[in-house]
Amino acid sequence: MSVSTTIDTDQLYIGGRWVAPHSRERLDVRSPATGELVGSVPAADSDDVDAAVRAARASFESGVWRERPPAERAAVLRRAAELINERSAELCALISAEMGATPGDVATLQQLAGTGVLNGYADAADAYEWEETRHGLFGESLVVREPVGVVGAIIAWNVPLFLLCNKFGPALAAGCSVVLKPAPETPLNANVLAELFTEAGVPEGVISVVPGGVETGQALVDHPDVDKITFTGSTATGRSIAARCGETLKRCSLELGGKSAAIVLDDADIAASAPMLVFSGMLNAGQACVAQTRVLVPRSRHDEVVQAMVDVAATFTPGLPSDPDTKIGPLINERQFQKVSGYIERGKAGGATAVLEVAGPEAAGGHWVGPTIFTGVSNDMEIAREEIFGPVISVIAYDDVDEAVAIANDSDYGLAGSVWTADVPRGIEIAKRVRTGTVGINWYAIDPASPFGGYKNSGIGRENGREGLESYLEHKSILMPMGYSSGA
Ligand code: NAD
Repeated sequence: MSVSTTIDTDQLYIGGRWVAPHSRERLDVRSPATGELVGSVPAADSDDVDAAVRAARASFESGVWRERPPAERAAVLRRAAELINERSAELCALISAEMGATPGDVATLQQLAGTGVLNGYADAADAYEWEETRHGLFGESLVVREPVGVVGAIIAWNVPLFLLCNKFGPALAAGCSVVLKPAPETPLNANVLAELFTEAGVPEGVISVVPGGVETGQALVDHPDVDKITFTGSTATGRSIAARCGETLKRCSLELGGKSAAIVLDDADIAASAPMLVFSGMLNAGQACVAQTRVLVPRSRHDEVVQAMVDVAATFTPGLPSDPDTKIGPLINERQFQKVSGYIERGKAGGATAVLEVAGPEAAGGHWVGPTIFTGVSNDMEIAREEIFGPVISVIAYDDVDEAVAIANDSDYGLAGSVWTADVPRGIEIAKRVRTGTVGINWYAIDPASPFGGYKNSGIGRENGREGLESYLEHKSILMPMGYSSGA
């Protein structure tokens, strides 16, 4: 396998083999930086989705993967992580070309994070109690954990390597077979990665990739032989998918959007915090579900925090992903550029002040928005309520900590957050009051060993750690005859 032979293909990767598609449609991938053609793959139609689901079902029923001991499945995930690391340079270059982040950012935000979760799920599978004897009202029962079955996985374009690993990882650790629909903007790396999982030891039939857009996704969601849908994308799409899953009572887990708050306390070390505050809000050109895009600051330190953040953000130079000086790559496409620009214009028109607004480079074919920081923002403004998905931070002043917590929680979303303080125990107490799935203290990160997911409109379910693995399992109780004892 090599990247150059798989980015342009006439075939689909179904059940671990390259096959001719039923569909005649194609997906052309264009560089967000230059508009140049990066690669082209067939767009799967509903017949192709059906072929992939049938391959997954057959492999699941055969037991070829689900009956392998969990430790062997874990070893395959660890091998896949090794292969990703071995091919880091070519994978990061490909993903950079597809979605516009610099290869260095792809290496940290996607490769490190993606291989981290693969190893994390392998550890979770090794430590997991797959069978457990319980003593209840009627005597003994054996509780066994079994894979949920055929999984349909649908992902976004913003961190595709990480998202693919966070679908293949837990599904494969659990013993499921998986059909993955990558985003239409980033299908090329998914083919390469799927081949790499096969090389790591995933048997034939167990994984398939069906590139395509909305209709391909809907065909997967509606397929009667899919047991679970796992989705990462926007809240609007998640709502629609959950409703469709309700029709067939498919299991469904959703990782959706966010509008996270960074709460800066009065004792925070501003000079030390500013670089991480800016990074947490603008990573991946702000195209991150966990971006800390509302920075809540004590009124007494407002100007000091804003100046420190502006000084840092002004160095976040937008430019070509291939340029070593680039800190912010292009937005994914023209639609996203229009959306982000529209929020910035309406933010100004609504009374907020753009204290920093850096223009993008004069490069033809790209879609840049430079770092933008707003002050004079109140939490009821559109820029404070909606997910912008661009490098735009809103600074909101507060008078006391109760007000800061109230502002943080006054959001339709509940994905992430952070507290910035010299007093870590105080930070923990405030973190406990924030209604989001993860909260960082003096930084923000997603840890493979700890659950990640959303409250409220940010999703249903958890990824990572034991909780992420359990999302792909059914729990079965086998009741022993009364008086029976296994000795356990
Ligand atoms: P999107 O919802 O438009 O698309 C996501 C995926 O769903 C794509 O593969 C798309 O083709 C597919 N899709 C769209 N409509 C569908 C339908 N009706 N049925 C089935 N599939 C459908 O989202 P996007 O713009 O690609 O991604 C950005 C969003 O993803 C942001 O809101 C971001 O916060 C979110 N996101 C969340 C996480 C997380 O872990 N919580 C991680 C990354 C991105």
